[in-house]
Amino acid sequence: MSSTNSTKFFDLFNNVDEYKQTICSKVIDVIRTSNRLAIENFDQIMTIDSCHDKINKLSERILNRIYQIKSHIQSSNWDQLDLDEKIEQLIDINDTLFEQIASALDEADGIKKSPVSTVVRQVLIKPQLKFKHKIDNSTIIPFIPKIRIKPNAVTPLPMIMMQMNFEPIDLDLLEKHPEILDHPYFDEISAFEPDEMLLKKIEPQFPKLIEETKYLFVDTIDKLKIMMDHIEIQFELAVDLEHHSYRSYQGFTCLMQISSRTEDFLIDTLTLRDELSILNNVFTNPVVLKVFHGADWDIEWLQKDLGIYIVNMFDTHQAAKELNLPILSLAYLLKTYCNIDASKQFQLADWRIRPLPKEYCRYAREDTHYLLYIYDRLRNQLLDLNENNSELLRLVYTKSKIICQKLYKKPIFDKNAYKVLYLKSHKTTFDGSQLAALKLLYAWRDRIAREEDESTSYVLPDLMLIHLAELLPKDIQGIRESCKLVPELVEKNLEEIHQLLIQAIEKPLLQSNHEELNLDESLQNKRSISSSNTNISTGSLLNNDNKRAKLVTEK
Ligand code: AMP
Ligand code: MN
Ligand code: ZN
Repeated sequence: MSSTNSTKFFDLFNNVDEYKQTICSKVIDVIRTSNRLAIENFDQIMTIDSCHDKINKLSERILNRIYQIKSHIQSSNWDQLDLDEKIEQLIDINDTLFEQIASALDEADGIKKSPVSTVVRQVLIKPQLKFKHKIDNSTIIPFIPKIRIKPNAVTPLPMIMMQMNFEPIDLDLLEKHPEILDHPYFDEISAFEPDEMLLKKIEPQFPKLIEETKYLFVDTIDKLKIMMDHIEIQFELAVDLEHHSYRSYQGFTCLMQISSRTEDFLIDTLTLRDELSILNNVFTNPVVLKVFHGADWDIEWLQKDLGIYIVNMFDTHQAAKELNLPILSLAYLLKTYCNIDASKQFQLADWRIRPLPKEYCRYAREDTHYLLYIYDRLRNQLLDLNENNSELLRLVYTKSKIICQKLYKKPIFDKNAYKVLYLKSHKTTFDGSQLAALKLLYAWRDRIAREEDESTSYVLPDLMLIHLAELLPKDIQGIRESCKLVPELVEKNLEEIHQLLIQAIEKPLLQSNHEELNLDESLQNKRSISSSNTNISTGSLLNNDNKRAKLVTEK
């Protein structure tokens, strides 16, 4: 990122907005250019002397700058980390920096008058506060499927679910009727087989330009009806979602994109959150094909937020895999088949913002607008590869079925997960008190994140958590100082954190608790949980993808 000399800030730019726009477009340029680099030819490029020299010089500058930023934020044993861990740390540092930048910009905007850096920034009201059904992050009550009627059923919905209230959830009832927690469309998905018509070659249909395509932003019941009238008569639809996970414990779906062969729809899933199960009429209809790209998360988000299930899905990501394409991303497919440069930097935009800015709408539409055409091309290619035998195509449908059968589960709290964080931090010299502090802070962070409906990284980033446990500050001012930029919820709970740290000093963890066996066990846990792909924001065991989601700017 370009460094901005703060004294020149207002000499160069007329106002904060102009500054923000300039910086933003520069960042976008950089991302766009770096996305264009042909990574697969990297080794070849490096054999050209002039390129080699330039790239090496540039890498050195970037690394130096990163190192400067890093040492400014927190001292850590950088050299001991492997590449993945360095990337994770950088992401954490980025988060902290973005928070600082957003905070400073608020101040310049006049939103925040106080010179104290810890004042709560509440520019954006959390949309989940307006949800009709309050989000339940408790560890006691599991996630209950939101569905109360079941269109296109082969096996009827358990009677009990038709009569059940959303709130309050009766735990005895769950014990008596464990089938409530089952996947409501498991049998329908198992029974689904693609029609022979779907297994033959077709003439690919390239869509009209986005500018010439009919488009509707659906944020009222009336518009939803207009959309339903159109999609109920289609045989193929492309679908995608945008999700937010930084200012929420379990995350929530902000937008749904649907494209037919002729029209695009963007659905405001924040305002229509409780109205969209009507889409099950089409989405569980085995006669209508739904095309997604990389649907793993979408399938879970649809269940979690909207009570929607999918029967008859084709995942273009799975198709790209079967075809052994060199890159499996949608951006690559868009470029290869449609010559479209997707502005993928919006992937991590703040999708909660309303009204949704024009560029966001444009990007969101691109995600589904060309997808049916890409599907046509992949379908033909899968048939070509096997001399018109439909085996590979069937395999893609089978893999897509497995994805559709995924069941959303609320993240559990793993009391051993702090050990994973400890291992990843490479701080091998923690004594009993430091380990006790780590364990207590880790559990505190998860509890606060659930209560306040925030991600654990928003409550207290991993790096800061480790740092606090390492330093064991003796008083409240010491806690503030060891955080540099004090997160809102740390400031709010300073006294409690102080008490936890005292407790840790007084009651160190016995070293025997940390013998290798236990560490092995926690690593084992880590593997099993992350491979199930269900703990979207436990924070405890964030994978890189979730970590990356935190880069979302708060403004
Ligand atoms: P997409 O299907 O690419 O439009 O992505 C859907 C949603 O997944 C986005 O709105 C983000 O919430 C999340 N997401 C996508 N890519 C990433 C990533 N690289 N890291 C973290 N979250 C991501
Ligand atoms: Mn997607
Ligand atoms: Zn998308």
